Amino acid sequence: MDLKSGYPFWTVKNGLLTPFPQLTHDLQTETVIIGGGITGALIADELSRYGHQVAVLERRDVGWGSSAASTALLQYEIDTHMVHLAEQYGEANAVMAYRRCADAIRSLESLAAELGNVAFSRQQSLYFASQEEDVAALKAEIAMRKRYGFEVAWLDRPAIEAGYGFSAPGAILSSLAASADPYRMTYHLLEGVVRRGSKVFDRTQVERLESDDQGVDVRLRNGAMLRCQQVIIAAGYESQSWLPSPVATNRSSYAFVTDPLPREMLGKLGHTLVWESARPYLYLRSTQEGRLLIGGEDDDEDIAERRDARVMEKAQTLAAKVEALWPDLKINPTFCWGGTFAETDDGLPYFGPHEALGPRVHFAMAYGGNGITYSMIGAQLLRALIERRQHPLSALFSFQRERHDT
Ligand SMILES: Cc1cc2nc3c(=O)[nH]c(=O)nc-3n(C[C@H](O)[C@H](O)[C@H](O)COP(=O)(O)OP(=O)(O)OC[C@H]3O[C@@H](n4cnc5c(N)ncnc54)[C@H](O)[C@@H]3O)c2cc1C
Repeated sequence: MDLKSGYPFWTVKNGLLTPFPQLTHDLQTETVIIGGGITGALIADELSRYGHQVAVLERRDVGWGSSAASTALLQYEIDTHMVHLAEQYGEANAVMAYRRCADAIRSLESLAAELGNVAFSRQQSLYFASQEEDVAALKAEIAMRKRYGFEVAWLDRPAIEAGYGFSAPGAILSSLAASADPYRMTYHLLEGVVRRGSKVFDRTQVERLESDDQGVDVRLRNGAMLRCQQVIIAAGYESQSWLPSPVATNRSSYAFVTDPLPREMLGKLGHTLVWESARPYLYLRSTQEGRLLIGGEDDDEDIAERRDARVMEKAQTLAAKVEALWPDLKINPTFCWGGTFAETDDGLPYFGPHEALGPRVHFAMAYGGNGITYSMIGAQLLRALIERRQHPLSALFSFQRERHDT
């Protein structure tokens, strides 16, 4: 599976960063992490900080999968409204999921401050109603969030026009959100993992896993083998190939970055993430240089050649949508790309073991629009499972979760 097409901004901006060696010999370690994207990096960081030995195995170069394609809007707001999650899993679970996502933004902020130079920036998030008919659902959503102490405000049409320079029937403004450079963050996290004595390998593909009562044999494509206590599959959208049947739908999302725009033209877009109630939704944020990163136009394509052929056309459609909202903004798609993206039915991720591979193999499937926030929670959740501790979200984010409404 080719995870991205075109020129993802982060790889163009940063180029190739630290190269890690290929693993060509047998090795023993405590935990093997398959996948060196932002999810594998956050998990490796969390485990190595708390004294666990890990080996991260990446079949490409680290950060070169979907993480390079991510626009990295960091939000506590799950693609599924809190109201709808409550219908499916009960109010307590819905509130807990949202609260933990909010905590994850703060954890990412502390990590970013420690790592330095990962373009982390605190933002607000504006979730606007794409059409009049969506206003009632957004009002129900904000009422519930307010009831549970989330810092949110309702903006009506005049307030949106005055503050943000575009027109929409209403919007939820959240004070907690952020943005970052996910590619640089992945590298800096993994450099720290190596400094703590754990190992990271590029161009190292895992082909087979064999579990027994004492541990797991991890067989590589080049014939080398690792023996470990447990494995975490953080292989992004390729993780599903380890399951007997898929639990999510692979899709493509498209994005582009503009030339830098004058600060006065960006206005509040300089510190606000914007997205909408339509599905698929338009999403955008600014970068430190004053560019706009704009994404959306998701479709069901995950064949790289076909996705590649659509990148320019999708960028033009997205640019036209943004110009329709902000006619004064001159939107020039400088670098455009598309990337694989997966969605679960309920918008929640999966972290933990699956019966098909036994208790020593954990999955880290941070699927959904706020995948990076989920990855942060997943890192803490998986450390708890490995240390045989409880985590409040281990049931809700497991393969065994049960919906109340079915
Ligand atoms: C266009 C686009 C925009 C997005 N925007 C956002 C956003 O604004 N906010 C947000 O939170 N999320 C966003 N996402 C989602 C986000 O990109 C993902 O949540 C995140 O990057 C997933 O990281 P990951 O580490 O799980 O996957 P990946 O980055 O894909 O990493 C998995 C790695 O596993 C490796 N691998 C796979 N199989 C093997 C194997 N057998 N052996 C060794 N290595 C293997 C792959 O090479 C890959 O590098 C977006 C995604 C796309 C495509």
